[in-house]
Amino acid sequence: MEVKIEQEDGIEKRIRPSYLNEFVGQEEVRSRLQILIDAAKARGDALSHVLFHGPPGLGKTTLSLILAKEMNSSITQTSGPAIEKPADLAGLLTALEEGDILFIDEIHRLPKNVEEYLYQAMEDFTLDIMIDSGTTARSVSISLKPFTLVGATTKTGLLSSPLRTRFPFNVRMDFYDDTSLTNIALRSSKVMDVDLSKSGAKEIAIRSRGTPRIVNNHLKWVRDCHTHKSHSIEKKDVENALHMLAIDSKGLDEMDNKILRWIIDHHGGGPVGLKSIAIAMGEDPETIETVQEPYLVMQGYLKRGPSGREATNLAYNHLGLQKNRRS
Ligand code: ADP
Repeated sequence: MEVKIEQEDGIEKRIRPSYLNEFVGQEEVRSRLQILIDAAKARGDALSHVLFHGPPGLGKTTLSLILAKEMNSSITQTSGPAIEKPADLAGLLTALEEGDILFIDEIHRLPKNVEEYLYQAMEDFTLDIMIDSGTTARSVSISLKPFTLVGATTKTGLLSSPLRTRFPFNVRMDFYDDTSLTNIALRSSKVMDVDLSKSGAKEIAIRSRGTPRIVNNHLKWVRDCHTHKSHSIEKKDVENALHMLAIDSKGLDEMDNKILRWIIDHHGGGPVGLKSIAIAMGEDPETIETVQEPYLVMQGYLKRGPSGREATNLAYNHLGLQKNRRS
């Protein structure tokens, strides 16, 4: 079992693009990052601090790793909740060499008292830490080597404004178009040595909720289902395999459809509050808000208003239901 996990880890690592020119789609983001990298290299400076925000699975971690590769520097990966106290942050920052990258995922979950120490570290590369307590308490100033902080968040709204504004470079990641997702499926299939046709790749793309991570997950599932190795994976094979996972022709999964159906069946289409939806789905509100909702809203199935979430006409049509239907 352990061997299998190691193999999967190996595949994950190989699937993940290592350099900017391997990163598919998001042309604007890529060209802006290229300018940032070139400018830092020309000046011989550390890269400016970068904040990536957007829904999960769109490539925030991948881009952070790419920045390190492109800058030829080391990267330390951690996450907001893992840095519990200022001393943890001091430990991480003092271990960095000049030009190194500290990647903090879920940076919106950084404890407030830690966040405050980060401000000065980001601005002046110094850290004023209080040591001892009571009458012997004193502040020690530690100077840090110039480093780059890369933050990633699925919830920019929860990021404090002092922290947000300390990132000179702010990158919003959007859902990918079908052409980019098709290219990601084809690229990953080559790395995984899977014989995927163009039509098969396209079908995976349109059922992947605009998200590269879902493309790769679908591809692995389709590969596992494809036992007739005599022919390449075609559209029909993808349809059959994803049907088993209850992924529909628009890429909505069981939870997406369950949410829409519940709003329509139990609240006449809404509006209904996020908390009620989360309780009914047995999920926490943050997961619904960051994982399901952005895509449903972007595709026009769901509307967010001041009094809650509402299913749109498109949601009714998608589920084959009549408006004003109540049960
Ligand atoms: P996030 O940090 O935003 O949650 P990740 O960077 O972990 O997302 O990306 C999820 C997976 O999708 C990665 O394993 C990576 O292989 C793949 N991926 C993401 N963006 C791209 C892209 N633009 N091109 C190719 N693969 C990508």
